[in-house]
Amino acid sequence: ALEIGHDLGTALTAAAALERERALVRELQQLDDYRTHLIATLSHELRTPLSVISGNLEMLGDLDLDRQDTEAARHHAAMVRGTVRMQRVVDDLLLLARVGDPQHPLDASPVDLAAVARGALALVESTARAKGLHLESRLDPTPVVVRGEPAELDRLVTNLVSNAAKYTPAGGTVTLSLARRGPDVVLEVADTGLGISEEDQAGLFRAFFRTTNPDALREPGTGLGLAIVATVAQRHGGDIRVRSRLGEGTTFTVVLPGA
Ligand code: ADP
Repeated sequence: ALEIGHDLGTALTAAAALERERALVRELQQLDDYRTHLIATLSHELRTPLSVISGNLEMLGDLDLDRQDTEAARHHAAMVRGTVRMQRVVDDLLLLARVGDPQHPLDASPVDLAAVARGALALVESTARAKGLHLESRLDPTPVVVRGEPAELDRLVTNLVSNAAKYTPAGGTVTLSLARRGPDVVLEVADTGLGISEEDQAGLFRAFFRTTNPDALREPGTGLGLAIVATVAQRHGGDIRVRSRLGEGTTFTVVLPGA
């Protein structure tokens, strides 16, 4: 009887530990939901006053302020820059909240990823040229079709390509390749830039994550870009991997199911 009592005691302790663990998981889930809700609400609330500010700044610009070399014109230009930056952050926060919301279903249609990739390259071309970067593309001339939301897939590719250009010093190379592999489509963005330490790679896809590398921190950023990329890949049934060595370069590989 003593032994049965002992077994029962052990079982009860184990059950209590399991219940505590479940309660903790529920609590963490609630906190995570709250965080998501808070971010979405705040960004939404910020959008209206921000558009009032930028609308009024634009009207001030119409008074030819931007063509004058006065103190007021310099303050105006600084406010325009600040507002544009804030709008970009708020837009990214709203996008991240939207793509990360399981209640928001994917409105999928066939998308030619080769065309998306060409668009992304065209977007960074002038920045890359000004900086002295080589852009290489290994794209299929024929359409490479996946099913998804065009705007989201566009952001996925654009964020990866613009990061590669941003974190690669002059003289480096950014290579974008796209190919079919069996039923999948593989997109690769490789650069010969700063690279990412193993430690930093672990947190790379978390919202607001920024590297510990001081060279990378010199570039402006919010740490939202890769969180958007990873969430978009995930909700399209895809996967993202990173291979990198500090000081040598980085390759991001996104695998998406082909259409
Ligand atoms: P942001 O660029 O706005 O900081 P991201 O989410 O796009 O935010 O990237 C997160 C961090 O990952 C960046 O701060 C940067 O340190 C690092 N990173 C992203 N892409 C690269 C890259 N191609 N090479 C080196 N570091 C990168």
